[in-house]
Amino acid sequence: MTSSRKAVASTVNANVDAQRRLAYFRERQELMVANIRELVEIESPSDNKAAVDQLGDVVAVKLAALGGSVRFQQARAFGNHLQVDFAGRAPKPVLLLGHYDTVYPLGTLASMPCRVVNDKLTGPGVLDMKSGIGLMLHAIAALKDWHGALPRPVTLLLVSDEEVGSDSSRSITESLAKKAAAVLVFEPSYGLNGAVKTARKGVGEYQVKVTGKASHAGLDFQKGVNAIVELARQIEKISRFTDLKKGLTVNVGIVSGGSRTNVVPAEALAQVDVRIARMQDAAGIDKKMRGLRPFNRKCKVEVSGGVNRPPMERTAGVSALYEIAAGIARGLGWNLSEAAVGGGSDGNFTAGLGIPTLDGLGGVGDGAHAVHEHILISELPRRAALVAGLIEGV
Ligand SMILES: [Zn+2]
Repeated sequence: MTSSRKAVASTVNANVDAQRRLAYFRERQELMVANIRELVEIESPSDNKAAVDQLGDVVAVKLAALGGSVRFQQARAFGNHLQVDFAGRAPKPVLLLGHYDTVYPLGTLASMPCRVVNDKLTGPGVLDMKSGIGLMLHAIAALKDWHGALPRPVTLLLVSDEEVGSDSSRSITESLAKKAAAVLVFEPSYGLNGAVKTARKGVGEYQVKVTGKASHAGLDFQKGVNAIVELARQIEKISRFTDLKKGLTVNVGIVSGGSRTNVVPAEALAQVDVRIARMQDAAGIDKKMRGLRPFNRKCKVEVSGGVNRPPMERTAGVSALYEIAAGIARGLGWNLSEAAVGGGSDGNFTAGLGIPTLDGLGGVGDGAHAVHEHILISELPRRAALVAGLIEGV
């Protein structure tokens, strides 16, 4: 055979193989739905350690049954973080990264039940990101089925505090990422076409506290120093730090201050969300925020906070991972697109270390953190086939 014929033949074989894999997962679609449903029906709000730990135990049993060695990294204020290692042939592991906490308080299931409605599976956390956990489980099970053993070592990390900033899990995520060849993040995909995420903005949070001087608004008006008026001027200044061309946004999201209408307010506070597309812009915005000085010299302005998630930039390593994923998807008869998003995830930490990271590999659906949260059931098989292919191929 000529080399071009060989190439055609191997593409044909690969496509046949891909279709077999798709059929394999289609046969298991009902089981995937049942597994995801089980996870959704164990509510796991970030701030309820006992609830999150209960879900962790259930997931750990399933992963141990697949041959993983399970280890809980203890966390005091949050649920324990679950690390599961699977042995495999290649030297470096791939890290599958996710979280099992949700933003929904206990009891949400009563008003937002987990239900199958046509092609939708609904429920709190079904998209963000319990379907992602289901996909990890089924991809690993399939690879064991197909190969007898995993083609490469896999480390799976499910953290319990992602929805509240990942403070207690960040160091674990970073140390496991450093040992990995690549990181696959199972946050929801983007849009109903299931795009993966190849760039995320970095996130900063700042608090701007103004202290003035209280006085009686009627009797002693001139002795007071109005902290709210000062803060209002600061807010105008802060808002002008936004630079859309750089993908840099500054949002004053919460303000508070004052005690009564007849008191000149002594204190006022603004809480500010900052997003950056490029790490090189972090220092500049930080300097501007910290450089805020009072307009009224009688006021004190104190700034705290900082950039706490670096941006996930579309580096060469990230785009190479995307190309592998797009190739797998093509074999499955599907055009996988990519998206850059403003929201952060734990993928920001791993990408920030320079480890090739691909995010948005979880479920396809809509309404994360909202009452209409759901996934599309018919998307599960090709998603699982994509994940299995990536574990083999990265
Ligand atoms: Zn999430």
